[in-house]
Amino acid sequence: MQFHDHDGSHYLTYPPRLDAGSGPVALTRALTERSAGAPLAIHVQLPFCRQACRFCSSQRVPSRDSRQAEPYLTRLDREMVLINRLLDDHPAVQHLHWGGGAPAFLSLDQMGDLFDRLDARFGLSGARERDFSIEIDPREADVFTLRHLQALGFNRLSLGVQELDLRVQKAINRIQPRVLTESLVDEAERLGFHSLNLDLIVGLPMQTPEGFGETLDQVIAMAPARITLQRYAHLPERYRPQREIHARDLPDAAAHLAILGEARDRLDDAGYVPIGLGQFARADDSLALALKEGRLARNLLGYTPYPPSDQIGLGVAAISRIGDTITRNAVSLTDYEAALDASRLPAAVGHRLDAPERLRRDAIEALACRHELDLTALSKAHGRDAAEAMTDALQRLTPLCQAGLLERHGECLRVTPDGVWSLAHLLDAFAPQASPMS
Ligand code: SF4
Repeated sequence: MQFHDHDGSHYLTYPPRLDAGSGPVALTRALTERSAGAPLAIHVQLPFCRQACRFCSSQRVPSRDSRQAEPYLTRLDREMVLINRLLDDHPAVQHLHWGGGAPAFLSLDQMGDLFDRLDARFGLSGARERDFSIEIDPREADVFTLRHLQALGFNRLSLGVQELDLRVQKAINRIQPRVLTESLVDEAERLGFHSLNLDLIVGLPMQTPEGFGETLDQVIAMAPARITLQRYAHLPERYRPQREIHARDLPDAAAHLAILGEARDRLDDAGYVPIGLGQFARADDSLALALKEGRLARNLLGYTPYPPSDQIGLGVAAISRIGDTITRNAVSLTDYEAALDASRLPAAVGHRLDAPERLRRDAIEALACRHELDLTALSKAHGRDAAEAMTDALQRLTPLCQAGLLERHGECLRVTPDGVWSLAHLLDAFAPQASPMS
């Protein structure tokens, strides 16, 4: 049996569906009930970008000039003030991430100002162990941008490559010569950024196994510590830019499998360790080491070698996870701004996990992060019989065991090497209705 794995990104926010209208109350309660002194991670959503990639499924705000971001940056500061009022003391923030859109769309002054405001409101760590990361669209950044980001305190980068095959780049309206990425990779290395990640997408229009194989060869030659293979999900009814992609140009099932086969061969040969859900890391990278040592975790951005902590998301469509509560901000810029102009938290939807959901979340985390699920340990941790509480999920896993993706040894389920490449299908067993959060 062969599977087209999806990227499983919605499991980062299990359960995937949140309750409408409960966002502000859920977030306020979660923030005020947080344990004093517990660490905090901050994720800032910067939705601006100049050009529309046709595969885009982000909440982007098309913009030409960085000055257009000013009103948004003012609202972000208001959001920080509102959140800060609800927070007890906490240690300096060790984990900061800026995502997009294209965060480097901001001018250097705007980036500096935003960083200072975050520091003033939340207190950012200056410790060497801090993990301050940013997503970079190589078309929006140059060596001066990287030097500025390093001077501010960022120490980890994720560069969006997507595809290097020019036919694919034309089909997705994202022309990005390889040299743009290469020069940034070289400079990032020189400046001492660590765990550099290069993002690729599988399943794009005009993509072929041969073309993607060449792209991967070029990316591997840049020697990034991490590579992410995201899966393109064609949902034109949901994401307007995708309406410009013709379904006939997408790789069919056989081509898709062949592309993944090329990827697997090349990544294996180059020594990249499959972490799961499209993430790969060199054996000496902190993600691969954390997997080996059984301390890998996930946060709202993906895998992390750091212990999970409460995360506050700032900005349009940003997600927060405080304890067992998940909330998401308004996805429309108008709604986001209107809430803040009325001095309200912009959280639009939220959910606090109940006991059965916490059990399933922990089962998902165990399979995703440790590649094994010990039902006895899970039962003990939750004070209930995990196998009985998840009979439906275990039944759904049976054919996947028969297909060789999972092995069962008594009360312990272990993901096989083939299963790591189909991890999202295994996780589907626990949340069969899962789909991107709505
Ligand atoms: S993928 Fe990124 S750069 Fe492209 S349109 Fe979407 S937000 Fe903008």
